[in-house]
Amino acid sequence: MKDMAGPNAGKFRDPSFTLDGAQRAQITLNNPKTLWFNTGTLCNIECRNCYIESSPANDALVFLTAPEIAGFLDQLDEQRWPVSEIGFTGGEPFVNPEMTDMARLCLERGHDVLILTNAMRPMMRPTVQAGLQGLRAAFGQRLTLRISLDHWSPDRHDEERGKGSFAKTLEGMIWLRDAGIRMTVAGRTVWGEREAETRAGFARLFAAHGFDVDAYDPAATVLFPEMDTSVDVPEITTACWAVLGKDPNSLMCASSRMVVKRRGAARPSVLACTLLAYDRRFELGETLAEAEGPVPLNHPHCAKFCVLGGASCSA
Ligand code: SF4
Ligand code: SF4
Repeated sequence: MKDMAGPNAGKFRDPSFTLDGAQRAQITLNNPKTLWFNTGTLCNIECRNCYIESSPANDALVFLTAPEIAGFLDQLDEQRWPVSEIGFTGGEPFVNPEMTDMARLCLERGHDVLILTNAMRPMMRPTVQAGLQGLRAAFGQRLTLRISLDHWSPDRHDEERGKGSFAKTLEGMIWLRDAGIRMTVAGRTVWGEREAETRAGFARLFAAHGFDVDAYDPAATVLFPEMDTSVDVPEITTACWAVLGKDPNSLMCASSRMVVKRRGAARPSVLACTLLAYDRRFELGETLAEAEGPVPLNHPHCAKFCVLGGASCSA
């Protein structure tokens, strides 16, 4: 990673110590419960604040394939990770032509599956719809799609994602509702609105359309804070847990890892979490065994998004 500029200059360099010499906090993988696969960074749209800079042109992370997924499912068994949930993220996962096949592999092996999607055109292609209906028929509520709906108001959602995108996502959600496929929602909190207002707005929207999503359950309607590395963020030390009253085991890197395949790489690799796909310091190896080591909290996202913001990518 390049050295930080602005208010964070000099911070987040040394994996062991913070700028003022305190011992940096690190997180041990002590309860692996979710394995994420990044299906590729290509996306049908280009959002203003996409954390992974996806777009119709960004293929920095290329498509994972069903045989690659199968190899990691074997490793899960070999390593005896007690993972119950497999998550798929992108990019837009349904751009990957093998998405429903990859989900089926995981479901057949007994894992629940969570797919993060914008529910737009890639998901609405007839072959994908047929694949999803087949998964619903075979595995019922063990398949969940988490829909990126930034805000309950069309204008705010479209501010992030482009004009007309709210209407397309809503169309996708109506199709999922009618197909009986389990949905949750991921929104954002970038507008300075109080959480209670945001949740009340989502509740009205869900009720109006008969969506079976609880707007007041933080696991069913996940609200993500803005990821902005230009603001001054503190470095997290080993003393922070007691000061903040925060359990280090609640962080995503204590309970999950993400598999990606970089453009030009011969094989996929395993990252500490879903949030830092391009920072090579968070690439832990090519196998799950290599990825079992501790993760130093050496990035502003660790502090702002996870420790202070309370983000989680799990369902
Ligand atoms: S839909 Fe998701 S992956 Fe695609 S650009 Fe928007 S935030 Fe990024
Ligand atoms: S960004 Fe969050 S989940 Fe990722 S390594 Fe940092 S603390 Fe862990």
